[in-house]
Amino acid sequence: MTQEASVLLIEDEPEIRRFLRTSLPAHGFRLYECSAGKEGLIEAKARNPDLILLDLGLPDLEGSEVIRELRTWTSTPIVVLSARDQEEVKVAALDLGADDYVTKPFGINELLARIRTALRHAARPELEAASSVFIVGNLRVDLGRRQVHVSELEIHLTPIEYKLLTTLVRYAGKVVTHRQLLKEVWGPLHVDEGHYLRVYMRQLRNKIEANPAQPRHLVTELGVGYRLRAE
Ligand code: CA
Repeated sequence: MTQEASVLLIEDEPEIRRFLRTSLPAHGFRLYECSAGKEGLIEAKARNPDLILLDLGLPDLEGSEVIRELRTWTSTPIVVLSARDQEEVKVAALDLGADDYVTKPFGINELLARIRTALRHAARPELEAASSVFIVGNLRVDLGRRQVHVSELEIHLTPIEYKLLTTLVRYAGKVVTHRQLLKEVWGPLHVDEGHYLRVYMRQLRNKIEANPAQPRHLVTELGVGYRLRAE
């Protein structure tokens, strides 16, 4: 049997706490919980959990402050729980080092998928990712050979398109913000050039999606960034 992973929930809403108190242990996670930011920071140090679920609207501290403080000493994955219409807050959280977000109200299956992806990433060193082959559906990206296939056909990508795709592969299943993609693909001086990203994303979709208007692989996270589907 696999070792159960521990999750620290920092959330002040009683309904969500109640919901996760039953559903997470039922799916094999050990749950610690607290209802405020300062307490959460203390608990994180005391418990050293495998993953942190963080509500962005806490009574005492801004979610961004909690993330900044956590990231001074731990790389434990942080999945943010955010309200709808909080695009800027979500983006800021991801740019500060949160790993992913789930928008309320969420179902347990969506949350579990995000938790598993974040835990998988935390467990996988960059080196291993660099030598691996990413396969999902009809898309196959061989990072070692630098080859991309769609339904067995080799696809020719420009260097920028390839870099964009492999950056998303590296974070597969997780959302990557516009800013982070611009930084990793074009460099830190180009983080505000959102039009680069739109142009190249359109090209990439034209090459790898069966229907670029309804992408199966390269999903838009409105106002936030893009996510490469991992399953
Ligand atoms: Ca709240």
